[in-house]
Amino acid sequence: MENCIFCRIVEKQIPSKIVYEDENVLAFHDIDSKAPVHILIIPKEHIPSLNDVNQQNSQVIAHIFSVIVQIAENLGVKDSGYRVVTNCGSDAGQSVNHLHFHVLGGRSLTWPPG
Ligand code: AMP
Repeated sequence: MENCIFCRIVEKQIPSKIVYEDENVLAFHDIDSKAPVHILIIPKEHIPSLNDVNQQNSQVIAHIFSVIVQIAENLGVKDSGYRVVTNCGSDAGQSVNHLHFHVLGGRSLTWPPG
């Protein structure tokens, strides 16, 4: 997907501050961080949103969640707490149409979100 900013980050055509990478997944710092820890974790495969997860591609989602725990530990928020968010669609404010999970931590997070 040549016009997808996250596909271009996967292809290293756009720089990012990578914290984890393997064959199927990439994790990098959000460019506009909302918390001391704000990481985005994405499947390398272009999946537009949570609405496009199905039996055929859901294995990568399980893998992403195991990676999230590793990242939370590496960045020191596993025990203090963190939040995992995926915005799906316009009402949720999804601004990049490549499935991504925000990992937020390093401070007390309000709930419910605005
Ligand atoms: P969402 O609004 O849930 O779709 O989240 C998209 C996120 O991508 C936002 O938090 C942006 O700050 C972040 N973002 C957009 N472009 C970049 C980029 N080039 N590098 C890192 N994060 C980005």
